[in-house]
Amino acid sequence: MREFELIRALSRRVGAIPGVEVGIGDDAAVMAPGRCGLVALDTMVEGLHFRRDYSSAADVGWKLLACNLSDIAAMGGAPGAYFLSLSLGEGADEAWVEGLFAGLEAAAAALAPEPAAVAPAGGDTTGSPGPLVLSLTLTGQAPSRGAVLRGGARAGDEIWLFGRVGLAAAGLEVLRRWPEGSAERAAWPSLVEAHRRPQALCRLGAALGESGLLHAMIDVSDGLLQDLGHILARSGVGARVRLEAVPVSPEAAALAALLGEDARAWALSGGDDYALVATAPASSGEALAALCAAQGVAAARLGEVVAGEGLEALDAQGRAVEASALGRGHEHALGGRG
Ligand code: ADP
Ligand code: MG
Repeated sequence: MREFELIRALSRRVGAIPGVEVGIGDDAAVMAPGRCGLVALDTMVEGLHFRRDYSSAADVGWKLLACNLSDIAAMGGAPGAYFLSLSLGEGADEAWVEGLFAGLEAAAAALAPEPAAVAPAGGDTTGSPGPLVLSLTLTGQAPSRGAVLRGGARAGDEIWLFGRVGLAAAGLEVLRRWPEGSAERAAWPSLVEAHRRPQALCRLGAALGESGLLHAMIDVSDGLLQDLGHILARSGVGARVRLEAVPVSPEAAALAALLGEDARAWALSGGDDYALVATAPASSGEALAALCAAQGVAAARLGEVVAGEGLEALDAQGRAVEASALGRGHEHALGGRG
């Protein structure tokens, strides 16, 4: 598929986008004032962030948008138009590109608070002599009281987890171990789906931002403990986390039992679930629980923010657990396979 054909095929799929005055087809997009105060960018490289034998083109499109939706959600914002950079190598034929667009559309329809606003307003298309490289820049609108930052946590805050963690890591384990078409792979559909189509908490993020109930927030892309650590470092505080309070899904626990793996380690350190971690004063507790219940999102209080620095993890008996026993978060390798 040639560049101009691809752009034509894409523009045919896109109607008027709320918040965009001029979209695909001119030299630059014209955005309505006030609609793009937040900007996030995420890139996915074939072989590093996705594999075409693990994920369909539509799965890749879903995830490319979902990881950006999650970043805007973590600011408490509402997502808008996006910009798409496609460096396409061999194998990205017309059908694959159509699948990619379909996955992007499916994620917007399923996850965004205003799906019509989350559509492509421009981008760039090139070839690639090697792997496919897909990059998406998502705009968003900050909540009226200002974005929720990583740096706002205060000693005494409660630490909240919204959504579920450890499922995508468990799903990746299934894909790694068992080939397409095998009964074993087919036995864990919800875990494989969690890896392929993460449920970014986009509507919840926007509602949390408007609520003013939070002091700080981040999305869990690289592992719960590691990402919570970014809040602590930015805020200049420490934390005590009760490991028992981190929910482990029954499916992940069943898979871990079968494989002799540790489902809690997946929950604490697994990436790509796109849950949200936040801190809030205890006075916000009831309202936060009600907001999550209304949206059908699991919410758990994991511990509290303390003065000082570092993260202290406590076992069921209240004893400190060695950091080395918790597993590492995911840090993407540069120039290798991550
Ligand atoms: P230019 O040479 O001025 O950059 P292009 O030919 O690259 O123009 O792009 C033409 C139009 O198509 C622009 O409006 C651009 O934003 C849009 N476009 C190109 N590639 C993509 C893409 N992958 N996704 C969305 N829009 C695209
Ligand atoms: Mg261009």
